[in-house]
Amino acid sequence: MDKVIITAAVTGSRPTKAMNPAVPYTPEEIAKSAIDCCQAGAAIAHVHVRDPETGKPDFRIELFQEVMDRIRDQCDMLINLTTSGLHLSGPDMIDRRLQPVALRPDICSLDVGSVNFPDAAFVNPPDWASIAAQRMRDYGVKPELEVFDVGHIYQALSLIEEGLIDAPPYLQLCMGVRWGMEATPENLLFMKSKLPSNARWSVLGVGRAQREMAALGILLGGNVRVGFEDNIYLREGILAKSNAQLVERAVELIRALDREPATPDEARHILTIVR
Ligand code: ZN
Repeated sequence: MDKVIITAAVTGSRPTKAMNPAVPYTPEEIAKSAIDCCQAGAAIAHVHVRDPETGKPDFRIELFQEVMDRIRDQCDMLINLTTSGLHLSGPDMIDRRLQPVALRPDICSLDVGSVNFPDAAFVNPPDWASIAAQRMRDYGVKPELEVFDVGHIYQALSLIEEGLIDAPPYLQLCMGVRWGMEATPENLLFMKSKLPSNARWSVLGVGRAQREMAALGILLGGNVRVGFEDNIYLREGILAKSNAQLVERAVELIRALDREPATPDEARHILTIVR
């Protein structure tokens, strides 16, 4: 079996320093956290940016650029920039959401379907997914198709059928987002059963489901995502000291199941990313 790719989602847009003081805000903090994760065994950094002063979600391209430069200066991990732009609005939203693609990271997330979060609708209209897939292909960026429910997988399959996604497709199964697919073993098995046979896939579980979904994902031949974007706790009531601590726990899980974490080069090979 292939080695297991660990993605570290180090900040996201929701957790704050008030929730966990180790949540990184500035480009320097975000990059350092990613590099620490790489040293702990992560092969990919999934990157959002924050306003360095307030910690609020930000989307300025210079912040993404600084994080990328700082990471690439120190390590060879793959960089996965978000295009979720959750807080963005306006008529030019698609172009603004796709700005990170032009920085030519290794991967960009591509949310194919819409979902209600408790405080907002996360709207991804059909034309968004097609435009985003085409833009990523134009720039040689591998799309990570993020799916929050099984219907999103069907939408991803239609993008693949339309020839907009180069083989092998790479999907992130996002489990346990409230009102999305609940993070249960049955649901993960069901989601996996809908994937194309050549798919590369990873799973994330929100909150306490992070470890459970990681363990099951490893057993099922998938890859795993951990980090503060999805979970700030090491275990119930105990905050994680760092993103790297969550990566270390994923490495322990992988080795307990007689597998090995993939190095960045091995992850490039598994995902067929040429750099
Ligand atoms: Zn994200």
